[in-house]
Amino acid sequence: MALSGIQIYKLLPQTNCKDCGYPTCLAFAMKLAAKQAELALCPHVSDESKTELAASSEPPVRLIELKVGETVLKAGNETVLFRHEKTFYNMPGLFIRVADDMDDAAVDNKLAFIKDYLVNYVGIDLGVDGVAVEETSGDAGKFAALVKKAATINKPLILISDKADCVKAALVEVGDSRVLISGANAENVDEFTLIAKESGSALVVSGEGVEEVATLTEKIKEAGLNDLVLDTGGKTFGDKLAQYTIARKLALKKNYKPLGYPILELAYKNEMELELASQSIAKYAGFIVVDTYKAEDIYPLLVLRQNIYTDPQKPIQVTPDLYAINDPTPDSPLMVTTNFSITYFSVANEIEGSGIPAWLLVSDAEGMSVLTAWAAGIFDAEQVAKDIKKNGIEEKINHKTIIIPGHVAVISGELEEELPGWEIRVGPREAVDLPAYIKQAL
Ligand code: SF4
Repeated sequence: MALSGIQIYKLLPQTNCKDCGYPTCLAFAMKLAAKQAELALCPHVSDESKTELAASSEPPVRLIELKVGETVLKAGNETVLFRHEKTFYNMPGLFIRVADDMDDAAVDNKLAFIKDYLVNYVGIDLGVDGVAVEETSGDAGKFAALVKKAATINKPLILISDKADCVKAALVEVGDSRVLISGANAENVDEFTLIAKESGSALVVSGEGVEEVATLTEKIKEAGLNDLVLDTGGKTFGDKLAQYTIARKLALKKNYKPLGYPILELAYKNEMELELASQSIAKYAGFIVVDTYKAEDIYPLLVLRQNIYTDPQKPIQVTPDLYAINDPTPDSPLMVTTNFSITYFSVANEIEGSGIPAWLLVSDAEGMSVLTAWAAGIFDAEQVAKDIKKNGIEEKINHKTIIIPGHVAVISGELEEELPGWEIRVGPREAVDLPAYIKQAL
């Protein structure tokens, strides 16, 4: 659990010697609590205090990293129960399952999808994170061959098997990659701990309920392995939600280390895998495995994940600028909107789809939508006038007509005063109506 400034102060020497560069130990403690200074700046802190301060700065949910080449997939390191309290940091990795009882063509199709699927959502590229390779045959050679094939697409891997010989054979095929092994349970925990330690892998610990899993993680940690992921079981959606919430709550609120790890959701085991994956994105999976590889299933999961893991205090934004759409000329119409990504892409996509060449001035509204920014006093006549000058618009276009969003019709009078000689036209309230409006206005 993070310590307060006062708690940190009590662990410092309290001599106010200023060697750390701060005027007092209390000032330094406050900076440490705010994570704006490094403990190493104080050369006089005792070893005992160092240990205590280091433990307090450990994240309540351990950061787990999977690696392949330069790609690193992170899960955990979360600090809040609800995203509106601050933000969620590391999105759950989305994995698609292949199994060693599938025929070659089916495996190839899935791997090709995992490798190539990429979709742009409000300026952000979204794709599948990795491959979960499941052993269902009991045949170590077959499993290893499939892992070898999956490794060729250079995405992070989860190996699913509770058979030690199969996992050992598969690990030979992953090279330097850091994988997640899903297979440790009450029966095989000692052997799997050793395998994960020796191979430098992270290990999923499976059990029925948080109590059993917590007992196992404590045992594994004592054996020297701390890169763990929880699989707490649960038959129904309600069971799972309860288990995941208990684990996250105990980790965050009670600093209960045995459950301070990311959670794995094997959603494909449920016939309503998409619904379960969606629930797990919201609360509180670190890794999710699904079977489907249909774009129409994967896309909504990726968008949901993106929205849940967007910092609620920092809306997704585009760069304020003058955007040229469909190769406009100096005579093409000029419109203005704000730099909230969804607003920008709604407007830009409508213009682009219409085929009409146009200029789109994107004003810096701190990532807010048109109406919100206007209500906050950020998107007003003065700002639009400033943006016109800042972007040198009068030198780039031959006319002095600007179309403002219908939602801010109220600023048209003030804008006329700010921009003498300009014609201010009030456009539609909805982006979808823009093409028809422009065609009529031209
Ligand atoms: S160097 Fe250490 S002892 Fe000196 S003022 Fe800073 S915190 Fe206090």
